[in-house]
Amino acid sequence: MGKKLVVANWKMHGNLAENKLLFQAYIDQLSSLKNTDVVVCVPYPYLAQAQSMLQNTNIAWGAQNLSKDAVGAHTGEVSAAMIKDFGASYVIIGHSERATAYCESDENIATKFVQAQAHGLIPILCVGETLIEREAGVMQMVVGKQLDTIINTYGAAVFANSVVSYEPIWAIGTGLAASSDQAQSMHEFIRGKVAVLDKTAATSMKILYGGSVNPQNAVQLFAMQDIDGGLIGKCSLNAQEFERICCAA
Ligand code: PEP
Repeated sequence: MGKKLVVANWKMHGNLAENKLLFQAYIDQLSSLKNTDVVVCVPYPYLAQAQSMLQNTNIAWGAQNLSKDAVGAHTGEVSAAMIKDFGASYVIIGHSERATAYCESDENIATKFVQAQAHGLIPILCVGETLIEREAGVMQMVVGKQLDTIINTYGAAVFANSVVSYEPIWAIGTGLAASSDQAQSMHEFIRGKVAVLDKTAATSMKILYGGSVNPQNAVQLFAMQDIDGGLIGKCSLNAQEFERICCAA
């Protein structure tokens, strides 16, 4: 499966001064990592700071959202090309905090996915179920439907070299991570669903787990066959914890 990938999602945290310290701590602590690729997804205003501090390091950077439109009269939106202008390589798409709070539809998320790729950004597509859906046993149906919106419109080949992050909504920011077996089972389902249609895409895509990953549970999660790394929220704001998670990958 190649190198593991660990992505920091800083969410709406930070300021110029704090970021400077955190970027520097990342650089100091992660520069010798060999088997893990690291990405930090920052709020839009700090893309320039990420570019100036992280260029020529082994850490890539990205944004946490993008517009589904390429250009035009879309006040307040930020296009894929603008994100790319700041040297970003990745963009998070469809994070549940956005999908819930800003009513993002699966259709919009699918458009954003291909919009990112059209501009040379690697999409990190977030999928996952609510606790009610898990308790009802319909989690694969829910995640399958999220993937189907992309597959039915654009085909499974678009998943080649992309990133899907399985993020059970009940695990995000709650301290209650999925067990490694729960996560592996969903990752296997996701890879299998794509593999039926496009084996190459299924092999080249990375499937991350996100939701209350910490230095303790990272070891077991990242040891699972279909878990190619993690999307890390809270613990990415602490350079020591983030380093331990990256080392577990
Ligand atoms: C996230 O925001 O994608 C996330 C996984 O957050 P946390 O690690 O804090 O649960």
